[in-house]
Amino acid sequence: AIMLSYNAECPTPASSTQGPQPLMKAVMQRCYGSPEMLTLEEIPKPTPADNEVLVRVQAAAVNPLDWHGAAGVPYVMRLGSGLGTPKDPRTGVDFAGTVESVGKQVTRFKPGDEVFGGRGGAFAEYVVVPEDRAIAAKPSNVTFEQAAAIPIAAVTALQALRDQAHVQAGQRVLINGASGGVGTFAVQIAKSFGAEVTGVCSTRNVELVRTLGADHVIDYKKEGFTTANQRYDVIIDNVGNHSPLKLRQALTPNGAVVIVGAPKDGPWIGTFMGIIKGTVLSWFVPEKFVFFVARLTQDDLTFLARLAGEGKMTAVIDRNFTLGEVPAAIEYLAGWHARGKVVVRVP
Ligand code: NDP
Repeated sequence: AIMLSYNAECPTPASSTQGPQPLMKAVMQRCYGSPEMLTLEEIPKPTPADNEVLVRVQAAAVNPLDWHGAAGVPYVMRLGSGLGTPKDPRTGVDFAGTVESVGKQVTRFKPGDEVFGGRGGAFAEYVVVPEDRAIAAKPSNVTFEQAAAIPIAAVTALQALRDQAHVQAGQRVLINGASGGVGTFAVQIAKSFGAEVTGVCSTRNVELVRTLGADHVIDYKKEGFTTANQRYDVIIDNVGNHSPLKLRQALTPNGAVVIVGAPKDGPWIGTFMGIIKGTVLSWFVPEKFVFFVARLTQDDLTFLARLAGEGKMTAVIDRNFTLGEVPAAIEYLAGWHARGKVVVRVP
């Protein structure tokens, strides 16, 4: 690989892959640490296998997962990603772009198609994806930046509301952390399901959350949502700053809490204990507390593409960065106050 940016604290790639094959720029992770450890390199451009699609990436999006991946925390993650150094140095997941070529068995996509999805290695000029995995057609009236913003955040919001909470029309749904990546999609998806939505955010985002369709907005700087007299059938918690007992005070009998996010700076054991406490509490009370990990699927991406194409869900884009600025983009998101999504324009 050719290093375009260099970090002395990280080992350089073991073998040089310079040769006749075409190269592409990609953001790589050679060790765990802060996002400045990531390097912009020239590596071989991938070739699609028979069942794969080669996508020229036009935009990618940043998620808290990218920060966790770079830092290698919680440490338990490293059991899968590599104990000492990352096994797979590629970075980024969410992408949108144009199909450049397809393997000979591919029937669902053809060169020129505009697509979006999720695949490890999205912070790069090209990514290959099996045609039946997390990749779907991008609606023509949705920009590449907006489409790239969708996969992890919107699929998480959809699966929390539909599969975990089983939200029905007319139910009162509260989204804690309504102005972030998951939250901005959750407000819109819950509205599309016919719910009465309350969003919780800081003062500067109240208007934004209202324009996304929230029926009520609680400014957490002024008022706690568990202390108000209102009760909710469903709470989607993207923030993790309330104990299960506190959340229960804001639930209707038989209500459900879906734990999506964890407190950013709290000790991991605290988060873990919060999940355990919620689960144990669920055994003794009629209310339901669930923690889940979202899974990107082609069906859900297709569902969300339809919502976006019909204008029922629009990505809120806070800032755009370039491929070389991925470390800064991840740092910005890690500040925990992004408004909607942080996007990387490629090239
Ligand atoms: P973002 O970084 O986009 O969320 C930032 C938002 O958090 C900001 O808009 C901010 O709002 C809000 N926030 C910060 N403090 C508070 C507070 N005290 N009360 C209410 N809101 C607050 O993250 P994502 O939306 O992408 O992800 C949210 C969480 O979900 C993360 O912890 C992430 O790791 C997790 N996640 C979990 C998944 C799963 O499968 N379980 C999948 C995807 C994400 P403001 O600026 O107005 O304060």
